[in-house]
Amino acid sequence: MIKKAVSAILSVVTLLLCFGCNKGERVFSKTFFAMGTMMKITLYDVDEMLANQLFSVCYDEILREENLFSVNIAASDVARINASKGDNVNISQETVLMIKNSVSLSRLTEGAFDITVYPVVKLWGFYSSEYAVPENDDITKALGLVGNKNIEFYGSSVTMPENSGIDLGAIAKGYLGDRLKSILKENGVESAVISLGGNVILIGNKANGEPWSVAIKSPFSQNEFIYEFLSFGNLSVVTSGAYERYFEKNGKIYHHIIDPKTGFPADSDLASVTIIGEDGSMCDALSTALFIMGKEKALTFLSKLEEISYVLVTNEREIIKSENLS
Ligand code: FAD
Ligand code: MG
Repeated sequence: MIKKAVSAILSVVTLLLCFGCNKGERVFSKTFFAMGTMMKITLYDVDEMLANQLFSVCYDEILREENLFSVNIAASDVARINASKGDNVNISQETVLMIKNSVSLSRLTEGAFDITVYPVVKLWGFYSSEYAVPENDDITKALGLVGNKNIEFYGSSVTMPENSGIDLGAIAKGYLGDRLKSILKENGVESAVISLGGNVILIGNKANGEPWSVAIKSPFSQNEFIYEFLSFGNLSVVTSGAYERYFEKNGKIYHHIIDPKTGFPADSDLASVTIIGEDGSMCDALSTALFIMGKEKALTFLSKLEEISYVLVTNEREIIKSENLS
């Protein structure tokens, strides 16, 4: 019997997992396309019927969350907030909790991670694909609409000023990963890999009990890994970098991670940030925030978070990793 995930909040770059499976091992994989991302779930040591049932439950969950959190789906909670013109919008308790978690992660990262950056991301064309380098005045105007102070809750309804709005692009896949992990574990899966583009979630260890070997793609070339480490399971491994989504104009690259202080793509000395931890939402938000902070500030910030491991890659190809990584 498949238990559907309860609807309370349960708490990039393509990471390639180089893990072999032993001969004769029962391995089932399924890929999905959703949230503008190729997703893949691989289950080990389960029988085929259970695997197929779990793939369908997971796909239902992926679509359910896309329909709550997508800026591109007019009926979603997020899109209705962004189109509300200052009116009060009733949203699900789940979205309320997601927004409140995002606001506290914004405070934790001194505003580097900020879901209200929506009007600025929109100005650069990252939702419409009509990419453009905005006029400085337009950026200044859009920045005036950014800030957590613009989000007012009344129970499970929310109000935001006209033309402001939210973008959960840097946290919702982290949240989705946590929920898919719960669904699979609640249904007895002890060894699995969930890949959601730059977010990878490991369940258990490899079926033979060994740790997973995780390889981080190089931010400098399509087919190289830049670092590989062994990881035991039940962790999210989330990478953010400037080369995931960008456009080029007059020989300059403009990427999708916006510094809420400047309204421009973050001018970082980091090429990619990989954060490893139990809480997928936190890993997702931090990978984006620390990229924006840059090397020095990121290392100071990370020195205070014991429960997080990390791999920072600088533009000079220096690799800085937490001591607890192999
Ligand atoms: P991350 O670093 O994790 O996030 C960067 C993204 O977060 C940016 O793309 C922007 O959306 C936002 N962001 C930028 N700066 C900040 C900041 N300072 N603080 C907070 N957030 C910031 N893509 C499509 O092409 N088509 C779709 O239909 C589509 N639907 C989606 C639906 C959902 C529910 C989600 C979560 C994502 C969807 N996406 C879609 C992808 C989305 O547009 C982002 O590109 C993607 O989530 C970025 O994830 P990342 O790991 O590559 O980068
Ligand atoms: Mg992210």
